[in-house]
Amino acid sequence: MDQQSLFNVEPPPWQLDDQDDWLAARIVFPGAPFGPYDYSIPAELEKSVQPGVRVEVNLGRGNRIMIGYCIEVIGPCHPDAHTVNPQKLKPIGRVIDAKPLINASLLGLANWISDYYLCPVGQVIETIVPTGVRNKSGTREMLFLSAAEDLQQRTKTMKLSQLQKTILETLVSSVQDWTPRELAETVGCTQGPISTLRKKGLIVATTKRVQQKTHEIPRERRTADLVLNEEQQDALDKINQHIDSDTHRTFLMHGVTGSGKTEVYIRAIQRVVEFGKQAIVLVPEISLTPQTRQRFRARFDRVAVLHSHLTAAQRAWHWQEIAAGRVQVIIGARSAIFAPTPRLGLIVLDEEHDGSFKQDKAPRYHARDVADWRASNEGIPLVLGSATPSLESWQRTIDGKYEKLSLAKRVLDLPLPDVATIDLRVDFGGRKRFGPISQKLRQEITQAVSRGGQVILLLNRRGFSTRIQCPGCGNVETCPDCSIPLTHHVDGNKAVCHYCDHQIPEPKKCSQCGNDSIRFSGLGTQRLAATVAAMFPEIPMMRMDTDTMRKPGSHEKALAKFRSGEIKILLGTQMIAKGLDFPNVTLVGVINADTALHLPDFRAAERTFGLVTQVAGRTGRGEKGGRVLVQTFDPEHKAIQAATRHDYLGFAAEELPHRDEFKYPPFGFQARIVIRGELESKAEQMAEHIAEQIEFASEKLNTDVSVLGPAAAPVEKLRGKFRFHMLLSSETSGTLQSVIRLAQKTIKSINDVQWIVDVDPQDMM
Ligand code: ADP
Ligand code: ZN
Repeated sequence: MDQQSLFNVEPPPWQLDDQDDWLAARIVFPGAPFGPYDYSIPAELEKSVQPGVRVEVNLGRGNRIMIGYCIEVIGPCHPDAHTVNPQKLKPIGRVIDAKPLINASLLGLANWISDYYLCPVGQVIETIVPTGVRNKSGTREMLFLSAAEDLQQRTKTMKLSQLQKTILETLVSSVQDWTPRELAETVGCTQGPISTLRKKGLIVATTKRVQQKTHEIPRERRTADLVLNEEQQDALDKINQHIDSDTHRTFLMHGVTGSGKTEVYIRAIQRVVEFGKQAIVLVPEISLTPQTRQRFRARFDRVAVLHSHLTAAQRAWHWQEIAAGRVQVIIGARSAIFAPTPRLGLIVLDEEHDGSFKQDKAPRYHARDVADWRASNEGIPLVLGSATPSLESWQRTIDGKYEKLSLAKRVLDLPLPDVATIDLRVDFGGRKRFGPISQKLRQEITQAVSRGGQVILLLNRRGFSTRIQCPGCGNVETCPDCSIPLTHHVDGNKAVCHYCDHQIPEPKKCSQCGNDSIRFSGLGTQRLAATVAAMFPEIPMMRMDTDTMRKPGSHEKALAKFRSGEIKILLGTQMIAKGLDFPNVTLVGVINADTALHLPDFRAAERTFGLVTQVAGRTGRGEKGGRVLVQTFDPEHKAIQAATRHDYLGFAAEELPHRDEFKYPPFGFQARIVIRGELESKAEQMAEHIAEQIEFASEKLNTDVSVLGPAAAPVEKLRGKFRFHMLLSSETSGTLQSVIRLAQKTIKSINDVQWIVDVDPQDMM
């Protein structure tokens, strides 16, 4: 068929029929009922109803007024047209947004997230579009004046005063629109004559939403490109091939700590920017340090940094700038994956193993998988980077789904630091007890500081004492709302629940038997800080954990002090393990490597290996070299052994077969269902009911889905609610979703019991 005939075909007969000339909009809501529901589009709204705008509609028999998102416009030619009965639809009442809040590509992404993570699409859209954009924060409606289009025509027969003429001339001679105040000031008149001209229809007024102020991003001094080493160049070349050919590929860059991964990202982004496209760089929130920002700002003109301390108005402003194509590089935590870039060219996800990429509320998405879908959909490369890649991503390189890039050496041939373990059983079993710091570690700290070096001490537990126990009856003080032991905090003399933040004054007596010789044991960062201060009174020290870093900006200030050398010992939780590049750190001490080792979670070993390897990587980044001491009760453990050798490959090779044996990820797929309710019996009843419906659905669809549980969750009670959970697994992707989707249709809700589905769960507690 040639071009001509392609367009000359007769319209199908039903298109000629007047009755079939209709348009409907598919609408979803951000809260229950989620929809989608179809509404008809009145003729006068045909132009303004588009996918991505919000509309006001009447819902249900009561005609409740609701605001929803249009996700699709359907007409007689649409493949789903037969599902719509245009006569029966209610009309859309009003269109709220002049322009779509979310573009077609992001709408596609929202649909995928909704499907994969089993979350209503309205709720996903509400997550993607920042609150500030939805309620137009930082903008206000303003009136703008311009001359009527047919001004000449109209004024031919009219008598106008000199002042009125001047006003009109001012308007006509200018390309931009004027606010009434600007116009009056320029002409030197009052509002009176301007109003008169408006009444005569010679001046037209329109309202527009304008930005109140901008949040320009400060520039940095330009720094020159570094000369890449062979490994870096090789990695860059491979990424560039896909940038040049506009093709999707997911790379996993496995680069040891300090191997110069960021430099490779920057160079790849430069290429993308040269093509007039944008790049998104995702990092864990905690890595959004001034150092990271400066590194990017020193290399690119227009960088947006999206961190959690932005106000709604600032976030909205960045969103508009990004959507307008005025930003080259977007750096942000998890949610920056939703940046509305008009021409995306590359996505980078640094520290891809990090748990913060998974959102712990609906939609429970993992930014890594969302990035993979988005990159594939937009036909662009995705680069994942880590010194300790998640085993999920690693297995994908083995399966050939991802392409592996290796940076096996540190830059400038710096060696990786020596790592030694200190067996706490021996050290504490002997005659002397040294508290949290063994004799060996103590000596090394003294030595490192006396030689002008700095020290990092990692302890992944907040508070002073992590256990408050009665020696008489054995009772452990726990949160009344959660089944979690309270942690003793000395600042404020209180006992705190680390799950719900419930606080009580420091208990003086056992709450069960009244015994007043209550014991505080278990080590937290507060106690460690007190010990270090007492042990090294002359060495300036600082503690860094979520308790001391609550205020916005405090993290940056603390790091600046450490960088300047004013502080010699930095101690804290995993916050200090990530991404920091301080060449003067010559010693890293891990106070207790086992804190997460024995949790009931199949990823416990992987997380321990990752944490120890990452914190070890903070040292030996300068000429003075570096050394790591790892205190542990379990020095033979494979995770600790592998970390002492910086041996990711060895760890993965040993751990993966175990995962395979039990069909744990990456060899199987999981979904976790958590049920919670104030009444234990009701929650349990609901859990049983859900499990039954899942079994039915699985049988009906003839799948291999297996169900573990329901059982009480490891954290049995949280914020006053009893919790049950079950774990669904399957060897193939998509099966879990279809089983749950089918079960959802028959699951009957019980009052005061909630349940959630977590696809690809990371949190098993
Ligand atoms: P990673 O992200 O792998 O931990 P970085 O990208 O932070 O490593 O690099 C570590 C340090 O090495 C940084 O200070 C960086 O400026 C420097 N660096 C990176 N590449 C080179 C290079 N080719 N030559 C010299 N220094 C480099
Ligand atoms: Zn609690």
